[in-house]
Amino acid sequence: MSAFAYRGGRLMAEDVPLSRLAAEIGTPFYCYSSSAIEAQYAAFAGAVADLDPLICYSVKANGNQAVIATLARQGAGADVVSGGELKRALAAGVPAGKIIFAGIGKTAGEMAAALDAGILQFNVESAPELEELNRVALSKGVRAPVAIRINPDVDALTHAKIATGKAENKFGIDLPHAPEVYARARSLSGIEIVGIAVHIGSQLADLSPYRTAFTRVADLARALKAQGHPIRRLALGGGLGIGYGSEPAPSIAEYASLARSIAAPVGAALAFEPGRLLVGNAGVLVTRILYVKQGITRRFVIVDAGMNDLLRPALYDAFHAIMPVAQPVSAEPPQLVDVVGPICESADVFAVQRPLPPLAAGDLLAICSAGAYGAVMSSFYNARPPAPEIMVRGSDHAIVRPRADLDAIIADERIPGWLGGAPVAASRAAGSKR
Ligand SMILES: *Cc1c(COP(=O)(O)O)cnc(C)c1O
Repeated sequence: MSAFAYRGGRLMAEDVPLSRLAAEIGTPFYCYSSSAIEAQYAAFAGAVADLDPLICYSVKANGNQAVIATLARQGAGADVVSGGELKRALAAGVPAGKIIFAGIGKTAGEMAAALDAGILQFNVESAPELEELNRVALSKGVRAPVAIRINPDVDALTHAKIATGKAENKFGIDLPHAPEVYARARSLSGIEIVGIAVHIGSQLADLSPYRTAFTRVADLARALKAQGHPIRRLALGGGLGIGYGSEPAPSIAEYASLARSIAAPVGAALAFEPGRLLVGNAGVLVTRILYVKQGITRRFVIVDAGMNDLLRPALYDAFHAIMPVAQPVSAEPPQLVDVVGPICESADVFAVQRPLPPLAAGDLLAICSAGAYGAVMSSFYNARPPAPEIMVRGSDHAIVRPRADLDAIIADERIPGWLGGAPVAASRAAGSKR
């Protein structure tokens, strides 16, 4: 059952009417259901329980402290891809011993921070990164726990911009190079090999690419074990898709059974890194209609949320279901409309030729399935402060990120000296060390 459903003619977030939140907070805003996050985590954890895996929530899907903390409370670890996400995970209470650090461009500073924190594992994505991590670890007199992320050259059958497992993608080490990199890793005294990592892409709807990828990982694990490498953990990545309304969601149970039948027999511990699956359908973006414009060929519903708030439609041509916050009552037939944002870009479109009930200026809409890769990708483009974030629990709600203060942002910028402004110290410009 969705956490966002009509009751008494009003679209609710659990037991809170979204219209009430709109009146209190203003629009646009993100609203997350903590129960939906917990239910989704429980569904995934339940499906893989017999494998006793570590479930590391992929923080990049939604890095809000409240979201990470909700999942940490359920027992989740974290999969992070930057020093900033590492900070976020630690600040939200994820134990360092449950944190995996992935990503192809870790800086020495980020590696040092992760070693200082004592994280569980680095997923290393290139031979030079391995050398750098070795150097940083030796400088601290420690060994860095490492899984090599392999690129299994598998087509994830998803949108090109979120496929990561083909040889032409920048991610991971090509399978044929893996033995050589493991041999090198073994010779480095700042590196401790702990396993293998893989992540072939996001929003996978078809499970067959997992079958191929897991098989390649399992085969490699056996080969490496035979050579004496300590392969104690297989990090199987994330990527399991969700239903956005237009397509069926793949089965968590079938995904689990692939891991069970292919990866588990290797005899190593398993880790999963789900992101979207846990939070995608636990959030909506609520926006108000500013104007309805009837063009010659199109009817445009112009809303107050833009691509700076939710980039997925512009970036991935993503489909998001859209629901009026007031349940439609009239028997009038739906109209085909384009739901568009206010930003000066033709890509700022949330829905094209979408059948929606008759709508008018002032009406509220909920853009659904916006819990993952929504707020995290927001920007200040067009000098629009990103939408604030609200979390609901039963009849309770909390503002978990207030609307950004544009005056403070502008005040933080400086007119250069040659234009008559006051200089900023270089140390300030560099910001805090990562
Ligand atoms: C993004 C990412 C994930 C999570 O992907 P989802 O599609 O959100 O599940 C997991 N692992 C790594 C390494 C990632 O980069």
